[in-house]
Amino acid sequence: MKKLIIANWKMHYGPIKAGAWIRAFRRERLPKDLDVAVAVPFVSLAAARSSLGRATIPMLGAQDVFWQPDGAYTGEVSTGMLQEFGVALCLVGHSERRIHVGETDEMAAQKAAALQRAGMVPVMCVGETEAERRKKNTLKVIRAQAAAFLAAVKPDAAVRGGHAAMPVFAYEPVWAIGTGKHCPAQEAKVAHDAIRAAVSKAWGAKWADQVRILYGGSVDAHDVGAYLTTTGIDGVLVGHESLDPRSFGILCRAALPA
Ligand code: PEP
Repeated sequence: MKKLIIANWKMHYGPIKAGAWIRAFRRERLPKDLDVAVAVPFVSLAAARSSLGRATIPMLGAQDVFWQPDGAYTGEVSTGMLQEFGVALCLVGHSERRIHVGETDEMAAQKAAALQRAGMVPVMCVGETEAERRKKNTLKVIRAQAAAFLAAVKPDAAVRGGHAAMPVFAYEPVWAIGTGKHCPAQEAKVAHDAIRAAVSKAWGAKWADQVRILYGGSVDAHDVGAYLTTTGIDGVLVGHESLDPRSFGILCRAALPA
């Protein structure tokens, strides 16, 4: 399975800086066997797309979406709008949205389903807080979050013109996001195995083998290799270390050393 690395700029970079980032990153040498994407703020999609031109690397991603196709939903952005920019994938249920704007499992699941209907890859984020980890509730929490997603999306859903892209999971322990705290790869593996087991139960073993499960939480060029050489970790979601295009290029090269 090809590894996938997604940059998440979060609330950084309007159109001017977004265009400059894409142009700089396109000069980076990248491993051939790696899928790379960048999740940019809505207002920067046009600039990122125009700096990408016809290039397909990095794939263009968004950080959020709304589940209704159109209508009286002030401030929201639909899947159709994302499609106009050639968005290939979109984060859903990121813990920063759960924490700061009250996004629930149900809302995140509806967003994932809408993306699938539109033929885009939902990157479905799950992860426990520090308190939940301390109470040893990690697996209970991520199983519940994963179950909400799994009830909403399918591995082989038919969409207009073909089949939907396979959804992706991201295991992101909340205590490791933006904190500089590193979750040991073997601890992350336990969570990844639990997510894959949930996928297998919901969709069957064949699909569980094919679903990519990423790790996210303060990943940098020093530890990306440890995650990606751990069985069951199929890529990484990178926040802070993706803000500088050169550092992100170094991280991508460290992920799959030649
Ligand atoms: C993220 O935004 O999903 C993330 C993992 O951020 P950071 O790498 O900064 O912890």
